[in-house]
Formats: sequence, C-alpha cells, structure tokens
Amino acid sequence: MIPVVALVGRPNVGKSTLFNRLTRTRDALVADFPGLTRDRKYGRAFLSGYEFIVVDTGGIDGSEEGIETKMAEQSLAAIEEADVVLFITDARAGMTSADLALAQHLRSREKTTFVVANKVDGIDGDSACAEFWSLGLGNVYQMAAAQGRGVTTMIEHSLAPY
Ligand code: GDP
Ligand code: MG
Repeated sequence: MIPVVALVGRPNVGKSTLFNRLTRTRDALVADFPGLTRDRKYGRAFLSGYEFIVVDTGGIDGSEEGIETKMAEQSLAAIEEADVVLFITDARAGMTSADLALAQHLRSREKTTFVVANKVDGIDGDSACAEFWSLGLGNVYQMAAAQGRGVTTMIEHSLAPY
C-alpha cells in the first residue's frame, strides 16, 4: 500500500505550497487569502525513493462557522485516512490556540504526526520554532516550502517506516 500523507494546519501556513512542491504541480490553489483550498485534494508524490499520496486540506483553525466548518470537517477526515500527518505551522506567525487544539486532537487520535514549522526563510528558525516543541509531538522540522528548504529531510524522516 502506498502511504497517505495528510497536510493539516491553520489556513495560510503553506500547505498548498508544500503540496504543489511535492506533487510538482500547480493544481492546488495557493493564495494570499486563508482557506482557499476548500476540499481535500490528492496528488501522487515521489521523493528520495519514497512514493506516497499527499492530501492537501483547506485548513482548520478551531473557531469554524459556515464554510470554515466544512474545511475543518475535511481536515479531520484527512487525518483519519492518513498514515502520516504533517502538522504544518507558521514559524513567523507563531503558535496559536488553534495549533494547540489541533495538537490535542492529533495526540488523542494517536496519529503518527510530524510538526513542521514553515516560512523559516529569512528568520532565525531555531528561536522561532522553539515554542512548537511544547505541542508535545516531538521534533519540530524547519521548512521553507516556497524555496524547498527542509522538505526532503522532513519527508525522509516521516516516511522512514515505509
Ligand atoms: P495554505 O492556506 O496553508 O494552503 O497556504 P498557501 O500554500 O496558500 O500559502 C499561504 C501564503 O504563504 C502564500 O502567500 C505563500 O506564498 C506563503 N508561503 C508559503 N510557503 C512559504 C515559505 O516557505 N516562506 C514564506 N515566506 N512564505 C510562504
Ligand atoms: Mg491551501
């Protein structure tokens, strides 16, 4: 079975940017507006000898109403169907209550989860990412999806069992 890797996290953290890089397409809508990817989107990825299905989601921020509720529902569905969850956060924006809520959900589901702090380009990644260790989900991977920095290392570690 090809492993399924879900990209979850708040809107605007860079999930679609990472999806496009992994699948080498421009299919997932990348926007300056939070929450534009409204449905789950699937792509096939090959990296460092691993083949996997990657799932992009609209995002989840913990206070959903209306269309946001739908996005949260499909994020939760993506988590359920995933073998590996990449929990994407924004190193520039810092940790939010939504990040804490999502971390609690992932711990309760006992999903194999990797915390990824995106947008470390041009900032001090180590200090920006320190707080994400408190999510209690282990190592925090630093990434700049827009430049492709940190992507290969993070995928190699998260897919090593496969
Ligand atoms: P999504 O809502 O989580 O899918 O986020 P998007 O992929 O649509 O990206 C949201 C915004 O963050 C866009 O303006 C991207 O260009 C920007 N972005 C994504 N990755 C990076 C990165 O590595 N560094 C910086 N500085 N910006 C990024
Ligand atoms: Mg998106």
